[in-house]
Amino acid sequence: MWELTFPRTVVTGEGALEYLKEVEGKRALIITDKVIHKLGFVEKVANYLNQVGLEVKVFDEVEPEPSVETIVKGAEFARNFSPDLLIGLGGGSCMDAAKATWILYVNPDVEVGEINPFAKYQLRKKARLICIPTTSGTGADVTWAAMITDVTEERKMELPTREMVADMVILDPEFPKSMPPRLAADSGLDALTHAIEAYVSQWRNDFSDALAIKAIQIIFKYLQRAYENSGDNEAKEKMHNAATIAGIAFSNSQVGVAHALAHSLGAIFRASHGRIVGIFLLYSIEYATREAMERYADIARAIGIEARSDEEAVEKLVGEIKELYREVRQPTSIRELGISRGDLEKRLEDLVTRAANSSCTFMNPRVPDVEDTRKLFLYAFEGKKVDF
Ligand SMILES: [Zn+2]
Repeated sequence: MWELTFPRTVVTGEGALEYLKEVEGKRALIITDKVIHKLGFVEKVANYLNQVGLEVKVFDEVEPEPSVETIVKGAEFARNFSPDLLIGLGGGSCMDAAKATWILYVNPDVEVGEINPFAKYQLRKKARLICIPTTSGTGADVTWAAMITDVTEERKMELPTREMVADMVILDPEFPKSMPPRLAADSGLDALTHAIEAYVSQWRNDFSDALAIKAIQIIFKYLQRAYENSGDNEAKEKMHNAATIAGIAFSNSQVGVAHALAHSLGAIFRASHGRIVGIFLLYSIEYATREAMERYADIARAIGIEARSDEEAVEKLVGEIKELYREVRQPTSIRELGISRGDLEKRLEDLVTRAANSSCTFMNPRVPDVEDTRKLFLYAFEGKKVDF
């Protein structure tokens, strides 16, 4: 038996933001960050809401990798304003912050770290949630978990409950048009990793398979164009859709060891999530091929790779991914992130422990033990072959 969760409404395409004029409510709280506020995106959203008589307030204090403190502060802000609509506007951090803030706003006695899939939060008795992503990668607009950081313990918490899936997601290609190329590439590779890991995950199912394959096809066709030419509206719109499609895929399947390793590395060495996860994707495919050869071969064939055997198909798939990285100038090793071998080795045991305990690790088609996790970090450091 599978329980699958989807947002109730997805509005997509040129002019999608105008759909806000259909929204009913009295007070809307936009949860976002200072950069998005400065870019004028908040005004765009607020304008439509004002037109239909909603009072709008803005909480713009979300930081990258939002902390527990920010969520508590946001919920307090919400309680003083009593919105019946919350809007997460921005990248993954803003949308995750909106999801977690919603829970604390409705349930003042809940601690952020306690959020779990078994409790009942009655979120819709008080407010609904609209997510409006401005980057094309995280899938946070459709997932049912929020990544929140416990700063004192240097720990990223993945807080899940199906109740927090947005009522509405608005995919307006106007927003990702202003993404710089580097961000377009980083977030695109995050989406690619979501889709590939969802397709090979132990929790894969017919629904996640269909969505994952479509997302992979779109990304291989359009990511380079979106990167090369920020004025390529078709490519930007396609990538914006692909990110959300991949998000729905992995939230109904799971991501795997590339994410476990990336969350671990990202918690200690600051670097873009998309860039790190893209590096680990390469090595994780090689690691898991033994257990998931047919699945990776499916992916290869879905993007038009011709091969006489599954083995050859997977080899060519890794080649195609590397070619894509070359085209969008992405690194293929940890060393290229500016991390030295010495620094990596100093924190290696900590990195390994965090990754080995991640729930993503256990969803991988081949689950690495502690020793293999260590080897994966060292392999990804500079791509020097190791035996698993
Ligand atoms: Zn990711």
